[in-house]
Parts: sequence; C-alpha cells; structure tokens
Amino acid sequence: MLPMSSSVRRFLLTKAKTYVRTVTTSKPATSFDDDQIKQNYDIIIAGGGMVGCTLACAIGKNSLLSHLKVLLLEGSPQQKYEFKPEYSNRVVALNQNTKSLMNSLEIWQHIEKARVQPVRHMQVWDASSNALISFNSADIMDDDVAYIVENDLLLHAVNKELTSPDLKNVNIVYGAKISGYELSKHEALTRNLIKMNNGDTYSCKLLIGADGANSAVRNAMGVQYLSWNYDHMGVVATLHLAEETENTTAWQRWLPTGPVALLPLDSKRSSLVWSTTVDHAKQLLQLPEEQFVDALNDALWKQYPHSSAVEACTSWFGSCLKSIGLPDGAERQLPPSVKSIVSASRAAFPLGFGHSTRYVAPGVALVGDAAHRVHPLAGQGVNLGFGDVKDLTEFLADAIYTGLDITHHSWLERYESSRQRHNVPTQIAVDALYRLYTVDLPPVVLVRSLGTQLTNALQPIKKLIMSHATT
Ligand SMILES: Cc1cc2nc3c(=O)[nH]c(=O)nc-3n(C[C@H](O)[C@H](O)[C@H](O)COP(=O)(O)OP(=O)(O)OC[C@H]3O[C@@H](n4cnc5c(N)ncnc54)[C@H](O)[C@@H]3O)c2cc1C
Repeated sequence: MLPMSSSVRRFLLTKAKTYVRTVTTSKPATSFDDDQIKQNYDIIIAGGGMVGCTLACAIGKNSLLSHLKVLLLEGSPQQKYEFKPEYSNRVVALNQNTKSLMNSLEIWQHIEKARVQPVRHMQVWDASSNALISFNSADIMDDDVAYIVENDLLLHAVNKELTSPDLKNVNIVYGAKISGYELSKHEALTRNLIKMNNGDTYSCKLLIGADGANSAVRNAMGVQYLSWNYDHMGVVATLHLAEETENTTAWQRWLPTGPVALLPLDSKRSSLVWSTTVDHAKQLLQLPEEQFVDALNDALWKQYPHSSAVEACTSWFGSCLKSIGLPDGAERQLPPSVKSIVSASRAAFPLGFGHSTRYVAPGVALVGDAAHRVHPLAGQGVNLGFGDVKDLTEFLADAIYTGLDITHHSWLERYESSRQRHNVPTQIAVDALYRLYTVDLPPVVLVRSLGTQLTNALQPIKKLIMSHATT
C-alpha cells in the first residue's frame, strides 16, 4: 500500500463523510416500502395524448435509448380506431417540422395511407378593414404550408408504431388512474414514485409529464404556472362546402369576437375552428343546424362596418406599396360557402394560455400542453409539443452517449432552455395577435391593418414568420 500523507487522508475522509451525508439526506422521504413498488422503470411518461405517445415512440426507437425501460400511463381507456368515411371534428394543422419527426418515426406513412390534406395557401383577413395577408407555399417555402390530420388518426398512427413488436422496451397502461406523485428532490438519487388509485406504486428515475394543460406532474413539481382563460371557446364542426374545389387553402377571418377558420379536409369538406365568446359559442351549439350554417356563412361573408378614416389610410398605404412594385393586398380569393354541417359534429372547447416557468426539476420534465398552452389561432399548440419531443429525445440521447445519467441536470437544463427559447416567443406572439385582433377601436384597427399590409408586401418577413412557425 502506498503511503498516504496526512493531508490526503484528511481530504479523502472529508469527501467520504460528505458522500455519506449526501446519501443519507438524499434518500427520498417516502411513505412506500420497496416491496410495495409494483415495478421500477427508467422513464415513466404520465399522459398518453398525441405528445406523450409520440415521445414514448421516439424514445423507444432511438438506438441510444432503446435499453431504457419505459412505461406510458394513460388515464383514459384504450381507444379502438375505426376508419370512417366521415371526418372527425377534431383536427390539427401539422407543420413541416412535425411531418419530419413523424417521418423519422415511420408514423407518417400510416397517416398518408389513411388521409391527410396539404395546405398550400393561407388567407387571413380582417372583417373590420380591408387588410389581408396571404401565404403561398410555392412562393415562401417550396413545400406545403401545413397538413391537416384528424387527432384520432394521428394517435392511431403513433400507436401502430408504439405497439409494433420491434418496440420491446415500452409498456403501456391504459385506464391508469394516478392518485399522486412523490418526487425526489435530489438529482443524485432520483426515484420518483407514482401512486395509483388501485394501490399500485410505480417508481422511475425520470418522470415526464405529458398530461396536458391541467398537468398533475407540473403541480407536483411545485413550479410557477402563468395562465389565463380567454373567456372564449373554440367551436369545432365538420363542414360540407357548397362547391367542390381543390380545397388546399386554409381560411381565417378575424371578426370582432375572434377568428373563424376553415381548414381543408378534402375537395368538398373542411373543418371549422370558430373562436368566439363563451356565450356566443353556447348559442352556436344550440342553434338548429341550418341556422348554424347561416351564422357561419355570415361570419365568413358579412360586411362589417369599416371606419372611413381606416379605409382611407389603408387604401393610401396600398397605393404607396403598389407604386414601388410591392403587393397592395387588393388581390383576394373569395372564401368558400358552407352548404351544411355533418350532423352532431359540433363541439366547443375552452381556450386559454399557460406557461410553466420551469419545464424541468430533478428527475422530472414536462412536454406538450403540460408545459405550454396557446390559443389555436395560429395552429401551433401540438406542433410546439412535438418540438419538445424531438429536442428532449435528442438531448437525452446525447447525454447517454457522453456517459451522463438520464437524470443529469445538464441535459435537462439544455432541454428546458432550448424549448423555452422557441416556445415562449411563439406563445407571446400568438397571445399578442389575439389581443390585437379582438379590439375594434379604429386606431387599433388602423395600426394592425397597416402592419398586416406591410407584412403581406414583404416576402422576407413572410418567410421569417413561416420559418419560425414550422420549426
Ligand atoms: C379547438 C382546438 C383546435 C386546435 N387546433 C390545433 C392545430 O391546428 N394545431 C396545433 O398544433 N394544435 C392545435 N390545438 C392544440 C392541441 O390540441 C394541443 O396542443 C394538444 O392536444 C396537446 O397535446 P398533449 O398530448 O400535450 O396534451 P393532451 O391532448 O391534453 O393529452 C394529455 C393526455 O394525458 C392524459 N392524462 C391527463 N391527466 C392524466 C393522469 N393524471 N393520469 C393519466 N393520464 C392523464 C389525458 O387523458 C390525455 O390523453 C388545438 C386545440 C383546440 C382546443
């Protein structure tokens, strides 16, 4: 044995004491004994919505992560998907980034085999002025602006890959009723406990909250959550259009009560997302179907009063733009007329904003609506969640590659800052748009109309907006 100097011995002894102290104090104070724990996992994902299921699939398919034991806990029973000729009333507009994630996970092929409608044009216009902005995929990004996919089809496509025999490391429990979480507060010895209503307890090193806007994982983390309701609801329905067309345009008209949007499904059907006041939404749901269609056609076509001062300024600004060879926004396409709605396809959802100030804690991370919630006016919500999935999987794989533990704070913090850098500005922009467009005072209408005209005229700005919205 090599002789040890007294200072080295003192140093090692101090370290050993520190270590012992750390271990003792880090042991999670838990009300459960080890033999009560049903199973230990490396990762447990709470919430099997679109984001949670895709995350489980992404972890399961990543070669650097496939040795990890993963459990997905979903509260609702397993849904049996059945392809029906009629479209579901819940759809999402997916951006290019989401499409490439889905492609990389071999999910997109199942969606394409069923049905998906590309969006090649977008027209957004203001009912309180003549201002308009349009996006044309051919001019802006050489690819489709977005893809409209039914939520249940997307979930089915993800589940097809998730339950494929090649994916051996992911277990799924449906109908899982979680009664509480006991989170470890220390990075060095993370063991999170998940207690179920039936008395079972699961444990894991890394817990991921994908449990939606009312996330119980986020509550258990004790982080600050900034949130508000818009006092608006999103009325959805499946629509039959009066005329058959190529139907690859997404339409959005800003009414003083909020935006009404038509998302293309196929040559003669579109999906409605009509954001309006809670009282109006409730009235719309009660109307007989024919009167609902009349109200919707009014929302798309009716002439709202325009301020003459705003009109004069915007037409002067339009002619200035034209005189220097820029588009003045006068060329507009006419929106479709709605013939009827699919019977019983109407529903309404509350709309709100939510931002979790932290996405991570020792041994815990949040993804999707659990971390951030936005108004659907820009079709960003689930796309932000899929961005979380991509980054979280990549940073975790990097961590494993460099020999770090799956709960190491460095990769969790990288995940949080990367996502917040993208998500927070998007959330702020969407909230600002909502506030700007639901005010009907002429000076505000004037400012936003001039801004819209200018943005529409400047291709580089439109490209910038699109590139942020699709990444
Ligand atoms: C009208 C409307 C239109 C929209 N349109 C678009 C669009 O065009 N594009 C877009 O990108 N986004 C859109 N969104 C937003 C999008 O729907 C959400 O961002 C998305 O559903 C969030 O997915 P998620 O998986 O994070 O959360 P959720 O869909 O809320 O899923 C959470 C899951 O967790 C489960 N769960 C919750 N608590 C527990 C628990 N304690 N135990 C076990 N399981 C639990 C739930 O059962 C659920 O399955 C729209 C939203 C609305 C309301």
